[in-house]
Amino acid sequence: NTFEDFRLKRDLLMGIFEAGFEKPSPIQEEAIPVAVTGRDILARAKNGTGKTAAFVIPTLEKVKPKVNKIQALIMVPTRELALQTSQVVRTLGKHCKISCMVTTGGTNLRDDILRLSDAVHVLVGTPGRILDLASRKIADLSSCSLFVMDEADKMLSRDFKTIIEQILTFLPKNHQSLLFSATFPLSVKDFMVKHLHKPYEINL
Ligand code: AMP
Repeated sequence: NTFEDFRLKRDLLMGIFEAGFEKPSPIQEEAIPVAVTGRDILARAKNGTGKTAAFVIPTLEKVKPKVNKIQALIMVPTRELALQTSQVVRTLGKHCKISCMVTTGGTNLRDDILRLSDAVHVLVGTPGRILDLASRKIADLSSCSLFVMDEADKMLSRDFKTIIEQILTFLPKNHQSLLFSATFPLSVKDFMVKHLHKPYEINL
């Protein structure tokens, strides 16, 4: 398989090749074609498998640069991972005219407010700050039709679960969900049963 087989937009394909990716990794091969059809995914994948690009590529494919709304939310457990993930969005999306913002605790809320007055298409962050921005109506998630959660096992094992469920109430009811998790504990299974719609399951 090749990245061309996915029939992605040209500017995205350019970013992928410029990043030095020649062919999709196994997780990308499974996840990308399914994700672009709009189906929910639950993927078991460890670090180093190319899982970040497996959700970033469908995200960039789905986001419409001309629509000035937050269209995708990528939630991760730590600030470091948020910064890394946003870097992948920027690298692969270099030619897509899609803007990505990182928001996490421990930074000035005023900066986020200012940043959100400009166009933001993809929001990457940790749950507490995202809930804060959504409930204060600083971030409008009503057009956010894609919800991505990386390291779902870590996210749902902490006190994050309630926060995440509150965040979901701000998204459109029929949003698409992509869940990536290294392990598949009961907490992730429960979340899947409750919040995912006929998810396509990937086990690598
Ligand atoms: P991840 O599992 O997302 O942490 O990615 C692990 C590493 O693999 C990162 O350095 C990526 O840049 C790289 N990578 C991801 N997908 C590909 C690919 N299709 N071809 C070459 N390298 C890749």
